[in-house]
Amino acid sequence: MSDHKNTGFTTSILHSDRQKSIEHGSLHKPIHTSVAFGYKDARELAAVFQGKQPGYRYGRQGNPTVSALEDKITRMEGAYGTICFATGMAAIGAIFQGLLRQGDHVVSSSFLFGNTNSLWQTVNAQGVAVSFADATDVRQIEAALTPATRIVFVETIANPRTQVADLKRIGRLCHDRGILYVVDNTMTSPYLFQAKSVGAGLVVNALTKSICGHGNALGGSLSDTGLFDWTGFPNIAENYKRFAPIQWGMAQVRAKALRDFGAALGPEAAHHIALGAETLALRLERACASALAISRMLEADPRVAAVHYPGLPSHPQHTLATELFRHYGSLFSFELAAGIDCFDYLNRLKLGIPASNLGDTRTLVIPVAHTIFFEMGAERRAGMGIADSLIRVSVGIEDTADLVEDFRQALEV
Ligand SMILES: *Cc1c(COP(=O)(O)O)cnc(C)c1O
Repeated sequence: MSDHKNTGFTTSILHSDRQKSIEHGSLHKPIHTSVAFGYKDARELAAVFQGKQPGYRYGRQGNPTVSALEDKITRMEGAYGTICFATGMAAIGAIFQGLLRQGDHVVSSSFLFGNTNSLWQTVNAQGVAVSFADATDVRQIEAALTPATRIVFVETIANPRTQVADLKRIGRLCHDRGILYVVDNTMTSPYLFQAKSVGAGLVVNALTKSICGHGNALGGSLSDTGLFDWTGFPNIAENYKRFAPIQWGMAQVRAKALRDFGAALGPEAAHHIALGAETLALRLERACASALAISRMLEADPRVAAVHYPGLPSHPQHTLATELFRHYGSLFSFELAAGIDCFDYLNRLKLGIPASNLGDTRTLVIPVAHTIFFEMGAERRAGMGIADSLIRVSVGIEDTADLVEDFRQALEV
């Protein structure tokens, strides 16, 4: 069996499991539901516990089905290693649990997934200061740095307003200052963008979204690209320095965050996600092309006040997005002209389903200010550029012409 490192994106996912032997020649890595792993020789069990021999101990810290998925994500991100979690939020929470200490400082993009915004508020209350800065401008990130800054956290394309972070320049800044650069790659996924290419040390993926892609499993991952020099990071406990420095971050996160907080990904969910990942590239080709077609149609219609999609030349970071990403993503948002009620519009859609997920095979729509961004209040919404009539669209894999027609006909009153 050859190593598929140099093959294309989809080939490499499809043949990832076969890089290690699979039970009975099974083509899919089987779903291992056992929580415990038995050893014939008790000394072997001890060797596994002491890290002297590879092997599984207990389901919360690792499982063969989950490991097979971790290997796939590592390949997709061109990373050194990956740890999976029960959800995307658990993966982001693991950064706080595993790598930050009281008195540390985080600089975060102000254009954030709503629950990440809420998490940073929790973190703030627990002694890790968080500053928010406009990540479309590296100078704003630089101005927010302090001597205590340990992490800069950004999303590639922000949801729902689709601001694109100045990923390359922020990467250079973090590298020059020795700061850990964390990129949430969920909105682009490793098919559209590898955060390693802009110097990210850690990459977050909410596997729930386009990687799983069918809205039938929750999951999250944290990948270490191997670029960050952990010897300069003050929060690694002595215990994890017995490994090679490239392993320090992952070793500490696996123990202190995954093991101690317990948000482990289940083997059934890992299986769903691994199956979904096989068609990630095919689904995104269709969904990104449709997102562009629908957003072009809407932008040309006077009944639409604004369309936010990085693929449109009118988007403030269109050039940057063209430079960075393979395509412009499967998500866009738009505002209806004054006098058109966003709820009425949504109710006229025949294909777009009012629901709160994204990266699904089906097209999902949501009135953002009234739902996912309701809790944060009007002031923070205004700061994030979220109008009351803003509709977010997660484009699915329906036929492009059907979707364009659906979003057009709903404009007719
Ligand atoms: C959905 C999402 C998350 C959280 O993922 P869950 O699996 O829902 O916990 C984090 N970041 C971004 C950008 C997301 O879209």
